[in-house]
Amino acid sequence: MEGTAFITGGSRGIGRAVARRLAAEGYAVGIDYLQAREAGEALAAEIRSRGGRALAVQGDVADRAAVTAAIRRVEEAFGPVTCLVNNAGIAEQHQFQDISSAFWRRIFAVNVDGAYHTIQAVLPGMIHRKAGTIVNISSIWGQRGASCEVAYSATKAAVIGLTRSLAAELAPSGIRVNCVAPGVIRTDMVAVLGEETLRALAEDTPMGRLGTPEDVAAAVAFLCREESAFVTGQVLTADGGFIL
Ligand code: NDP
Repeated sequence: MEGTAFITGGSRGIGRAVARRLAAEGYAVGIDYLQAREAGEALAAEIRSRGGRALAVQGDVADRAAVTAAIRRVEEAFGPVTCLVNNAGIAEQHQFQDISSAFWRRIFAVNVDGAYHTIQAVLPGMIHRKAGTIVNISSIWGQRGASCEVAYSATKAAVIGLTRSLAAELAPSGIRVNCVAPGVIRTDMVAVLGEETLRALAEDTPMGRLGTPEDVAAAVAFLCREESAFVTGQVLTADGGFIL
């Protein structure tokens, strides 16, 4: 595959696996991060050492100017973004009554506004070229409900709504928009749940294990490939059968 991929939240977890995978498939990759500069730079260096092209850039997706500037830096290095992966996300468990308005606003700013900002930054170019793929990372909690996940679940359902409507709007322009909804994936995000809870979640998964970032990266890569050229507006769940 040729072209430039921009991955938000590419420094750790699922985003890092997506960056590695898309780089291995031939994309030049822009690795966006918020704070983890060292991890982002190390990943870019690792990809370059294998002969790939990668650049780590700082940019808060909630800040339109900052993330747009990060995208432009990557485009100056590698050419226009042809593949956008909206992966940056935050999560916290709270009972609904305890959700502060500051947290409610922040989780929507990152998980939903982030995609709004990045897509608007790359869309004029994609429309001009009549080509492009966008993959948004939702969650099984955007498809199902879960106790103490109201804010997170609402943002991830919003991402699914955004994906479907935008796919309909952009299909005539040759741009595909899809979604991956991961189940429980072993990353820093779920480490806070503790080993006992993670073991129980693995037992509740028909496949008997938690997912890996690579499991999700494989689903993202499929949706970025020409092989999925007739697939748009879809939610590809990668959860080991958790919500069947
Ligand atoms: P991690 O917490 O491991 O990593 C989050 C990544 O997002 C980091 O690279 C972080 O950057 C980045 N990030 C966070 N906030 C911002 C921001 N405002 N601007 C730019 N980057 C930001 O998360 P996961 O890898 O587990 O999750 C990735 C995505 O997958 C998220 O959208 C999450 O909701 C979703 N998901 C995860 C599941 C799981 O079980 N792990 C299940 C379902 C969905 P930095 O390193 O600089 O902090």
